[in-house]
Amino acid sequence: MNRREFFAKLMRYGLSAGALNALPVERLFAQEFLPQLTIPIIDAHAHYPGDLSTVSEGYTFDAIHNANISATSFAVLGDRTSGDGPYANALAGIKIVTGFESDGLVKIVRRPSDIPLQPSAKGPIPIILAIEGGDAIGTELKRLDKFYKMGVRMITLVHGTYSVSGDNQIGNDMRRHSSNVDEPGLSDFGQKVVERMNRLGMIVDVAHASAQTLFDVASCTRAPIIDSHTSMLPPTVTERTVGSEGRAGRQRLYSEAEAIVETGGVVCTYPLNDPSCGRVSLDAWVAEIEEFKSHFGMRHIGLGTDSGGGVPRIPEWTGIGSVKDIEAAMRSGGLGALEISAFMGLNFLRVFTRVHAVAQTLIYFKA
Ligand SMILES: [Zn+2]
Repeated sequence: MNRREFFAKLMRYGLSAGALNALPVERLFAQEFLPQLTIPIIDAHAHYPGDLSTVSEGYTFDAIHNANISATSFAVLGDRTSGDGPYANALAGIKIVTGFESDGLVKIVRRPSDIPLQPSAKGPIPIILAIEGGDAIGTELKRLDKFYKMGVRMITLVHGTYSVSGDNQIGNDMRRHSSNVDEPGLSDFGQKVVERMNRLGMIVDVAHASAQTLFDVASCTRAPIIDSHTSMLPPTVTERTVGSEGRAGRQRLYSEAEAIVETGGVVCTYPLNDPSCGRVSLDAWVAEIEEFKSHFGMRHIGLGTDSGGGVPRIPEWTGIGSVKDIEAAMRSGGLGALEISAFMGLNFLRVFTRVHAVAQTLIYFKA
């Protein structure tokens, strides 16, 4: 079975199994591919090298290449208010990334089958073009179609770093809103955004979204959703207060993770250093993954490093090359190759495949 047949098989599973949170990507992979391949790594959230001045060390095109990953997201900021505003700034970011493609540095992934399961040592890096901050959509749904044509396959609906003047038109972000579910969440326009993204085959990312926004997205989406970069608060914590960064900044409660899991989605975790709950080592990160596994299994957790972003990192994490260290830490923590593969990339791939299949189905049935 070649790669094309493999994906055809996935699509058939996708379209025939109804409410298919059971897309058996991992099983197919284990049976047919795992013996021959290295563990595929897909980074669900990163910025392109040089975009943000915060953390550039250990994160260059060479470093991404050497990390031997199958694909990485490149998120352009969708909520930069400087100059001509969020939309113009997002277009400028996309132009930079398409420039990287013209220079042969990257290849923009347009469909799940563009992601090579076996990463190539040379050649352009497969990237999933994303926008972090739906502010760039403004109030024009048509911009989503335009972004899609440009290759955007994932949008983080709310971000909230730059548009400090107020909430965006889609919903609330968690930096300024607590886990209080009485606060308003997804707007009516935001619901239309989710519908349009489902129809186009774009992954809906609820990273940074407030609890109520997340719950509203989870209940209206027709495809699985992800949180592309977060970490889990201990299950005993049931409330989050407002904060700017760190602990209260973007971590998920188990109640929020459950809503993502119920869509068939994935909670992607990153190397945040958080002394307030002892998350200061790769082993602590692995313990968090194992705790998550004991609640939801290994099908709903993944990797989103936020490389290029400004998150305080676990000291052992020195750059994108440290993906091999988290892989090793998972192995010594007792997780199996298939579970590690699920975390490192296959769960994300399942969601992307499913999102793509849902769009095809909606188009076919004109639903
Ligand atoms: Zn972010």
